[in-house]
Amino acid sequence: MQLELPLALAPVPTPMGTLRYIQLEREIVGYRLRRARRRSIGLVIGDDGLRVATPGHTPIAEVEAFIREKARWVLKKLSERRAAPKPPVVNWGDGTMIALLGTPVRIELMPGRCDISLEHGRLGIGLAPRAEPAALRKRGIAWFKDRARALFGERLALYAAGLGVPTPALALSNARTQWGVCRNDGHVRLNWRLIHLPLHLVDYVVAHELAHLREMNHSARFWAVVGDLYPDYQAARRELRDCTHRLPIL
Ligand SMILES: [Zn+2]
Repeated sequence: MQLELPLALAPVPTPMGTLRYIQLEREIVGYRLRRARRRSIGLVIGDDGLRVATPGHTPIAEVEAFIREKARWVLKKLSERRAAPKPPVVNWGDGTMIALLGTPVRIELMPGRCDISLEHGRLGIGLAPRAEPAALRKRGIAWFKDRARALFGERLALYAAGLGVPTPALALSNARTQWGVCRNDGHVRLNWRLIHLPLHLVDYVVAHELAHLREMNHSARFWAVVGDLYPDYQAARRELRDCTHRLPIL
């Protein structure tokens, strides 16, 4: 029997789509419904839970019947997400360890100085005397982003040469789960958080986004281009997937 949902769970419009609720087995599951130009209903489990994209005018009853059909899968994925280890939140201070290209770097405060320097695995951060922890965090993040911009630029140039295309314009992104995007106009955005990961994973993402300059899809032809640029891409994809939930939150 289909239970009536409590009135408090009426649909709520949000910028990411309408937040609605559905009962699946014994759980009430919230989902965001977005109407888009597409041919079929798509379900995705993201950090924010279940997202549903439907073709323009699909009646809500049809959408919900579809979700119920996939209830098993949805509930399994949601519980996997809940059980997944939470990313470590960095507590900025003297002695904090943060990964740079897969190797931990130790943060050292240098009160009264204004430079930042990396030496022998120590990142010395100059700060005004009695600076707030927020100021340390701000300087630290800016430093990691600068590193990311410089390194990704070099790797893009290297792999672009391998592909025989001009080096595309680079921008950094800040997404939680997306590593890179290649836009139709040839701009590449890379997630600056990749700077925490080993170089070979950065290179894989760079090769992946560049390959989109040839193929704006994930077809077999696309993967062949990736394979030419980065032969061991399958292992890198797996490794990257495992890293997603372990990236520190700075
Ligand atoms: Zn892609």
